[in-house]
Amino acid sequence: MKITVLSGGVGGARFLRGLLAVVPPADVTIIGNVADDLEILGLRVSPDLDSVLYALAGLSDEERGWGRADETWNALATVSELSGDAWFKLGDRDIGLHLVRTQMLSEGSTLTEATARLVAAYGLESELLPATDDPVRTFLQTPAGTFPFQTWFVERGHRDEVDAVHYAGAPDAAPALGVVEAIDNADLIVITPSNPYVSIGPILAVAPIREALARRNAPCVAVSPLIGGQAVKGPADRMLTRLAGGTTPAHVVGCYPGLIDALVYDEADAPAELPAGVHGVVTRTLMTDADARRRLAQAVLDAAAAVA
Ligand code: GDP
Repeated sequence: MKITVLSGGVGGARFLRGLLAVVPPADVTIIGNVADDLEILGLRVSPDLDSVLYALAGLSDEERGWGRADETWNALATVSELSGDAWFKLGDRDIGLHLVRTQMLSEGSTLTEATARLVAAYGLESELLPATDDPVRTFLQTPAGTFPFQTWFVERGHRDEVDAVHYAGAPDAAPALGVVEAIDNADLIVITPSNPYVSIGPILAVAPIREALARRNAPCVAVSPLIGGQAVKGPADRMLTRLAGGTTPAHVVGCYPGLIDALVYDEADAPAELPAGVHGVVTRTLMTDADARRRLAQAVLDAAAAVA
């Protein structure tokens, strides 16, 4: 069974670890968000792709939730000493990956090619595709002004309420090679428990990707990133309250109009009334350990079977 997964960073990566424990990794194609990407200190950083890559390679720091385990921070300490841009946290091991990616891109490789090389180097069997090789970037409109994603999220600690989200570059962006085919040829499409506005939204903002999903032949199952109406981490709940009018499972479904056939959501949010045509599956969705991750992945496979 071919499974295509639309994924953000942390929530996406956690979910994928569970999924790859219950299905053959070679059957899975992951389409990753790139609208959080940034250039900093001369390096090209793709935080969401890297969260997925590190999780799949078994290299991620579980406690911190992002970056690599056994990380050290010497390079960043030097950046600080020299009054450089130290607000975006890059560990020494992580920087090594960014050096390789940045060199490949500066020598003319696409992000898709650079990502494929990293996937191969770590011996991963799943395919990891950036949604697009074109520069799509998320901007947040807030009462304090409009900010690029990482300025709002990291530098300002996502303290500003969001009035609107813009995906600069999306109208002109083409899907990366293989992305539309992966959706068209899938037996199952999954949307990870990721922030609908800043992780999945920018993937769907690339029109041919949204169109492929809208005309899908296979079931599409989303997992809610909210538990008891609250984000496990990050601003998803505040964004849904302000931009969607609430944080129930129905509000999550509302972020994916016509695009999903089932929503897997937490028992803390049950029972919920979902829009017609969307099947609800209630389970425990907190991915605390390998067992919990596997159970959630299995619930997604069961949901797909129920709506197929
Ligand atoms: P980011 O781009 O790194 O912020 O990553 P994502 O958008 O993929 O992940 C952030 C989302 O993951 C947040 O909205 C969290 O609520 C959600 N999340 C993290 N851990 C869990 C979990 O264990 N269960 C569920 N249901 N959601 C989670």
